[in-house]
Amino acid sequence: MSQVFIVNSGSSSIKYQLIDLDTDKPVVDGIIERIGEPGEVPDHEAGMKRVLVETIGTDRDIVGVGHRVVHGGPHFSEATVITDEVERLIEEVSSLAPLHNPANLLGIRAARAALPDVPHVAVFDTAFHQTLPPEAYTYAIDREIAERYKVRRYGFHGTSHQYVAGEAARFLGRPVEELRIIVLHLGNGASATAVRGGKSIDTSMGLTPLEGLVMGTRSGDIDPGVVFHLRRQAGMNVDELDDLLNKRSGLLGLTGTGDMRDVQEAGSRGDEAAELALAVWRHRIRHYIGAYIAELGGLDALVFTAGIGENNGLLRRRALAGLEFLGIEVDQDRNELASKSARYISPEGAPVAVLVVPTNEELEIARQTVAAIAALPAG
Ligand code: ADP
Repeated sequence: MSQVFIVNSGSSSIKYQLIDLDTDKPVVDGIIERIGEPGEVPDHEAGMKRVLVETIGTDRDIVGVGHRVVHGGPHFSEATVITDEVERLIEEVSSLAPLHNPANLLGIRAARAALPDVPHVAVFDTAFHQTLPPEAYTYAIDREIAERYKVRRYGFHGTSHQYVAGEAARFLGRPVEELRIIVLHLGNGASATAVRGGKSIDTSMGLTPLEGLVMGTRSGDIDPGVVFHLRRQAGMNVDELDDLLNKRSGLLGLTGTGDMRDVQEAGSRGDEAAELALAVWRHRIRHYIGAYIAELGGLDALVFTAGIGENNGLLRRRALAGLEFLGIEVDQDRNELASKSARYISPEGAPVAVLVVPTNEELEIARQTVAAIAALPAG
């Protein structure tokens, strides 16, 4: 029974799974929290040892370790076996994800120390989007400044978008190479991706995961002029503005709660702020659907995934209402059926296959880890 150990390391937590490669299922799944707090696990090394020795024990056959890394910058277009040089490059692009990459590196270093005899692989949230064409990833700003500071669209949730696009093709029984797909990853964070022939050609998140759709606490798209205006008129500094747009905006900013279930509940009671938030949320999604259909030159499949996308039929139906002229239709019965499997929500024979495909980032990381190890030169 070979297994891949999946590590998602945060600044004070380590999420982990041990995935069995025969069944694709986790045999162990857990999280160590409050690392560094008094009376808790002192550091990531100690946390990693606790997981491997106390929780997992010796009854294991780990063939590789897959690490989730948020930002690969311009360096990584696929999952990459970790060497000291790879660690250095992940560190180099930390300026692009100052909260995430250093935390990911803590996990990488602790796991490499604890499991020195197996290959470790970095799987980047940005990698899938490295196929974006220049016109999609370039911001229209001074070229020299953009180059010097690595300013461009990178995109995120790549592991999820890649997995979901692949599973959608598999579900449809068609080669992904033939398909034009829009994936809507609607969770706490949210992003839309246009996938042609299995490759990401545009995505709604940008230099950072702040751009694009309305999220739990993030604003998504906004005129950068808002930042200058608030700087000048409200006297807010950069950290306050960062906090405002990343942590106090989106559904939370509009309604006081960042959880879509509560927003929806308030909306159904006629709460005006919640109704407006739902309308803005929906408006933004439709904006991207329209844009991506134009970029893809048509659409074969529209796929919902993540917390909201997988679980909320009413919001899916509302988001797509009135798009029948684009071939996008939702079958009410299919849409209301709760299930943990990939499924159609469009009616039989509709021009666009509208699907729900549960995401599984850990499984995709495991698969990419195995593939990266298999591609290593023998010996
Ligand atoms: P993350 O982006 O943190 O990985 P998930 O994809 O797990 O998040 O999505 C979590 C979010 O999904 C929660 O914040 C919650 O608002 C939302 N969610 C989960 N189930 C439902 C539901 N049935 N209806 C609406 N929203 C839901």
